[in-house]
Amino acid sequence: MKAETPEGITLIRNGLFDNGDYGSTYLVGHDQLALVDPGTSYSVPVLLEWFEEHSLSLSNLKYILLTHIHLDHAGAAGHLVEKLPNLKVYLHRKGAPHLRDPAELLESVREATGDRFSEYGEFKPIPEENLETIGGEKTFNIGSKEIVAFPTPGHAPHHLAYYDNETGGLFPGDSAGLYLGGRLIPSTPPPTFNLEKSLDSLTRMKESNPSILLYPHFGPGENPGELIDDYKRKLRDWVEQVDKLRSRYEEEEKLVTEIIETKRDWIRNGFSVEELKMNIRGVLKYFSWREDDQK
Ligand SMILES: [Zn+2]
Repeated sequence: MKAETPEGITLIRNGLFDNGDYGSTYLVGHDQLALVDPGTSYSVPVLLEWFEEHSLSLSNLKYILLTHIHLDHAGAAGHLVEKLPNLKVYLHRKGAPHLRDPAELLESVREATGDRFSEYGEFKPIPEENLETIGGEKTFNIGSKEIVAFPTPGHAPHHLAYYDNETGGLFPGDSAGLYLGGRLIPSTPPPTFNLEKSLDSLTRMKESNPSILLYPHFGPGENPGELIDDYKRKLRDWVEQVDKLRSRYEEEEKLVTEIIETKRDWIRNGFSVEELKMNIRGVLKYFSWREDDQK
């Protein structure tokens, strides 16, 4: 049986990259409502239609919770704020300048995604007064529901996880990896993936003792403690594999070809070769700045 979302939390398939099982946005709350990671600008009509189909008034939507500002999570936020000017957008303090003025963010996405840049949609800046920034751990309310946000750097330095005090449901964002078709796949994109910080964040998430993990790619995962431990192993193995092979190949292209051959089993459920290349570049970047640091 497939895992279900807890009370007061609903999964909406946001249609990310035209795939029904790749991007999940969660609707959270009883009286007032929040959306966790609304997806790209292409998700906006999908979400609006969902509200209409379920006879829910958009006026109940008061908050957006962003685990991080990568466009497949945050790209829809500015469009929703334009529709609902009182909407409050929670995010990590470090991400806020990039949502007010996205030039640098868009450049970094363009560099990371190459040919697939257009699939990340159109970004709209978000006015300062709509942003609710979070530095350390913070507890706040979505109507009667209490949420605890805490930093989970590693996938990106501006990453947060959100814990629902009522049900123990945890929104780990991308800091607990991708969970596609019941399989965990590392998510290590450039330019700021950091292995040590990722592992520390996974420990912190496990300590929060969640009842279920609500992955943005894709769906609820049961037995969170086991999933988190398993992901730690997978992440370490993945970084180690890239490390071993990068010393064998001087040319990045050959390295990439070799790794793709060994990871054919990852390429399914919406995880593409481009996604894998991004993961490789993220790990290479991590080693390059770590080595620069040691000089
Ligand atoms: Zn991400």
